Amino acid sequence: MAKKGWSVPATEALKADGLRIADLDTSGTPGFKGDKSAGQELLAERTEVLSALQERLYANGRSGDLRSVLLVLQGMDTAGKGGIVRHVIGSVDPQGVDHAAFGVPTEEEKRHHYLWRIRKALPRGGQLGVFDRSHYEDVLVVRVHNLVPKEEWEPRYDEINAFEKELVDEGTTVVKVAMFVSLDEQKRRLLERLERPDKYWKFNPADIDERGYWPDYQEAYQAMLERTSTKSAPWHVIPADRKWYSRLAITELLIDALEKLDLEWPPAKFDVDEQKKRLLEA
Ligand code: AMP
Ligand code: MG
Repeated sequence: MAKKGWSVPATEALKADGLRIADLDTSGTPGFKGDKSAGQELLAERTEVLSALQERLYANGRSGDLRSVLLVLQGMDTAGKGGIVRHVIGSVDPQGVDHAAFGVPTEEEKRHHYLWRIRKALPRGGQLGVFDRSHYEDVLVVRVHNLVPKEEWEPRYDEINAFEKELVDEGTTVVKVAMFVSLDEQKRRLLERLERPDKYWKFNPADIDERGYWPDYQEAYQAMLERTSTKSAPWHVIPADRKWYSRLAITELLIDALEKLDLEWPPAKFDVDEQKKRLLEA
């Protein structure tokens, strides 16, 4: 059944299968039939649902359940990854969140296999993990800028698939989200960073140079979607020019992942009546 406001559920509408990024309407709102105000209203409602489900995941983790959920966020600068962390993940109990952001590898990280820092940051049982960038940078920025020779990055697609399959088999639901803004929207957002002192900290002069590599990034993102969207860990493509839509869409994907875990509240490990009696008599 279609979710409220959605004519097609987000999990279906955002599937990466067969999608050409070059043809993507980044200002679109696939599957959603309402406007911005309807979207924002629904988001407020769905945020409550997400938060309640995440509490259940956390509660089960505290009781020894080893399952977890990992949200992998990929996207060019200004696509809104930070906004998802702040507004979507920020709406749930921070105790239950394992957050990691991946930038240019440190000297120590460079001495290890590229998955080394990723494995260290995986969510613990009961946690909602979020990766702001991820191991996919090792087939994106690395491929675009030839940071390692092709012979080295080429086998990574299969290696990543095997790595994620193992993760999923061990009880982590992997929700992969690629966010796309148009070149024009990126310019507008970068300009805003230069016009607002409270946004200077987000600006990196190199972001302007990266715009020159846009077609190369599109090609690298396309290859990533085609080669690493698997049954165990499929990609979702999020048109991200409208922030209200990307936040709502990713909230729905997380709700779906958590609902599929069929989480109950963990049962008491003690006799409730007996403990009540003890307390009242104490
Ligand atoms: P930001 O997310 O804006 O803090 O930027 C992080 C930067 O780190 C981006 O320019 C990424 O492309 C870069 N980065 C992340 N992972 C890697 C990697 N494995 N190799 C090289 N650069 C990376
Ligand atoms: Mg940046």
